[in-house]
Amino acid sequence: MERYWNQEIETMSREDMKKLQDERLVKQVRHVYENVEYYRNLMDEKGVKPEDIKSTDDLYKLPFLSKADLRDTYPYGLLAKPLSECVRIQSTSGTTGKRVVAFYTQYDIDLWEDCCARAITAAGGTKDDVCHVCYGYGLFTGGPGFNGGSHKVGCLTLPMSSGNTERQITFMRDLGATILCCTPSYAAYIGETLHDMGYTTDDIKLKAGLFGAEPWTEEMRHSIEESLGIKAYDVYGLTETSGPGVAFECSEQTGMHINEDHFIPEIINPETGEVLPEGEVGELVFTSITKEAFPLLRYRTRDLCVLSRKKCSCGRTLIKMSKPKGRSDDMLIIRGVNVFPSQIETVLIEQGYSPNYLIEVDRVNNTDTLDISVEMNIQQLSDKVKDMQAQERNLAEAIKAVLGINPKVHLVTPKSITRSEGKAVRVIDRRKLHD
Ligand code: ADP
Ligand code: ZN
Repeated sequence: MERYWNQEIETMSREDMKKLQDERLVKQVRHVYENVEYYRNLMDEKGVKPEDIKSTDDLYKLPFLSKADLRDTYPYGLLAKPLSECVRIQSTSGTTGKRVVAFYTQYDIDLWEDCCARAITAAGGTKDDVCHVCYGYGLFTGGPGFNGGSHKVGCLTLPMSSGNTERQITFMRDLGATILCCTPSYAAYIGETLHDMGYTTDDIKLKAGLFGAEPWTEEMRHSIEESLGIKAYDVYGLTETSGPGVAFECSEQTGMHINEDHFIPEIINPETGEVLPEGEVGELVFTSITKEAFPLLRYRTRDLCVLSRKKCSCGRTLIKMSKPKGRSDDMLIIRGVNVFPSQIETVLIEQGYSPNYLIEVDRVNNTDTLDISVEMNIQQLSDKVKDMQAQERNLAEAIKAVLGINPKVHLVTPKSITRSEGKAVRVIDRRKLHD
């Protein structure tokens, strides 16, 4: 039996959901226009007035916001409520540059935690569960968001934060954790450490994990599911729209349901800004229709994905987004070819290597170079140089077959690549350093 946190919303008919979105959007546009001078100016420049927005069909008339706007208005320029009504600040991880900050009223915190509660419930969580949260706590939204969601569901919450992996496993065992929340790269590291400590999945009680905050592949999912003996669920979010829980996976695991009662998604062509029809890949844009303090309208996430309204076996009617394959700015252009790190990850795991790798791109004599260091596991180690070279060649060929360009593969010894306790850094692009 599928469990819902808010069955009425999660299974609402499309017509009712649209009605709710229409009402909320009209109200939100007015709130932003009246309280955020920066966005009012953008609307005025475009010649759009709040009364022009009568329903979600008029969404396309509104101007976009991007990370650059958030940086330009740092820290208070997009605030829509007096600071005296705000109770929390969180900040992005700064993965792609200067951090931006987001503000929350108590109402905003409640709705965010509610979104996380929906995600935990969809992963099978109930008040009988022990929920181990090792996303980072602090300014990063991962820890606080899941902590709040876990409380709402009524789980016994272990606020571990990240780091000290052996201690994580000791607590997980001693307290019988059943649900794990962290980045997928940290989940992989926890799985590896569990086995290094001499335990198996029989020694832990975990049954499900909610992993997100960074791109990860289906292959990575299978590898984590196996090493921890769990079902691994994807969960998506960003600080600008609240944090984790904007979208979450259900039992069907074919994309993440977006909490459409709070966030209206659109897919646009990242170059022209044109809205694309359902089913086409493009940049995901969100409009927050319920947030009070930091309500971004038409915020460009730079995440690339597809939206789908195909009927889902879980019974939820919320629209689904595909796993983002990375941000538009994660895409590497190497010798004129578009490369996503996730394509390389897929090949590595398919070929039996660990998800521990580092991609280095550089430019030598005006030609782009692509070097991939890949960790071997013990069984793959050989003391014959010839064997190793043959393995490197085979892997390079398998990667070339997918990317169309030739990488240089370096097999490195087990445990030599730094493990991630939060968002993994898998790419070093030295060309940017030369510019
Ligand atoms: P930063 O932009 O500095 O990393 P955040 O910590 O707010 O700040 O991270 C939000 C971003 O993380 C999203 O825009 C997206 O690129 C990525 N992300 C979050 N969840 C997922 C997920 N499940 N799959 C892929 N990428 C994700
Ligand atoms: Zn579903």
